[in-house]
Amino acid sequence: MSESPLELDQRHLWHPFTQQREWTATEQLVIERGEGTDLIDVDGRRYIDGVSSLWCNVHGHRHPMIDAAVRDQLDRVAHTTMLGLTHPAAAELAARLAAIAPPGLERVFYSESGSSAVEIALKMAFQYHRQRGEHSRRSFVTLTEAYHGDTLGAVSVGGIDLFHGAFEPLLFESHRVDPGDLERLECLLDFHADEIAAVIVEPLVQGAAGIRVQPPGFLRAVRELTSRSDVLMIADEVATGFGRTGTMFACEQERVSPDLLCLGKGLTGGYLPLAATLASERVYAGFLGAYEDYRTFFHGHTFTGNPLGCAAALASLEVFEREQTLLRLQPKIRLLGELLEPIAAMSEVAEVRGRGFMVGIDLGDHDPALRLGHRVVLEARERGAIVRPLGETIVLMPPLSISKADLRRLVGIVAESIRAAGASSLGGRSSAELAAA
Ligand code: PLP
Repeated sequence: MSESPLELDQRHLWHPFTQQREWTATEQLVIERGEGTDLIDVDGRRYIDGVSSLWCNVHGHRHPMIDAAVRDQLDRVAHTTMLGLTHPAAAELAARLAAIAPPGLERVFYSESGSSAVEIALKMAFQYHRQRGEHSRRSFVTLTEAYHGDTLGAVSVGGIDLFHGAFEPLLFESHRVDPGDLERLECLLDFHADEIAAVIVEPLVQGAAGIRVQPPGFLRAVRELTSRSDVLMIADEVATGFGRTGTMFACEQERVSPDLLCLGKGLTGGYLPLAATLASERVYAGFLGAYEDYRTFFHGHTFTGNPLGCAAALASLEVFEREQTLLRLQPKIRLLGELLEPIAAMSEVAEVRGRGFMVGIDLGDHDPALRLGHRVVLEARERGAIVRPLGETIVLMPPLSISKADLRRLVGIVAESIRAAGASSLGGRSSAELAAA
């Protein structure tokens, strides 16, 4: 008899962010299908996709309009290069993105992952200044506990020690600022203005930091300070983009137009690996010249602007309009807030943070060996929901299309799972009691 997918997986696969010794020693879930906001395993069991398949699914799985758009594109061509050629879906999508992005972002450079979109923004910022004769501008300002992806440039502007610490010797220098510490940011920009190429921020909410919410007005102030110092501002909306915080882009909520905007995850509705770096005309114009001036941006990936991804993204934007996704999201955001109130009051919970459909339930500091977050995930799975922890913070990020009934069910499952995991691992003692012990 041939081996099962799980046997093959455990013998040959190497999973991201995963201790393989643990993975290969335990039973794993094998997902075969998706339907709306449900994922379905090989045994036919259903689970609510409580983290939107790593924060990217927007309109649910197998949405008929996006499925049809991808099939339709497949009937024409699956892939052609953007180097020396173009294609209709890429051009149309660029125009749509320029129309919905914060004002002034008119140029679209494609890639395939959020990390690449960030890498591209960093390289563009650096090269832009060089071409203006500002060769000393080679460092970046980033927020403490920032996460911008896993490639080395993105890691250099990252600040999560668990993920990034090991690579320290390979990284370039970045200055770090606590979200809200405008005084330090102003000081850095005053004293190092001629060394700094750009400030990079995850607008409003830092996702992988544990759904860390910024004080109101911070983003706007970053924009004002960077403009004053002629430092570029990069907004990384890979996680916050496409409705996640309640508006199409988080930057809108503080009326901010960055110089460079990174998009990924929800760009295709969470269907296919497509990302984009949007640039202002000012940045773009800095790269224009005769070929022999060598102002070209020498960067591009094989699958840059993949037609299937562009077709999915166009269809996803169409769904936003037809289904009035953002309008219909608002009452669900209010409901989620109400449903979370009793969770915030649970003795096992230290804090609930979030914005829109981006929520973190913090279980407080515990001995990492307890694996409390992980236990909650396993309990939730037993009860029919997929969630993921960031350390001891349980992340809730359902697809924007989730029904109110499923939202209630998801939050109910999470509450029960926290209680069950707490009872088995904290011995009935509260988060605060254990922290004090
Ligand atoms: N930027 C932010 C804010 C993210 O949250 C992520 C991924 O979680 C990335 C960049 C990296 O995106 P990708 O995993 O597609 O490379």
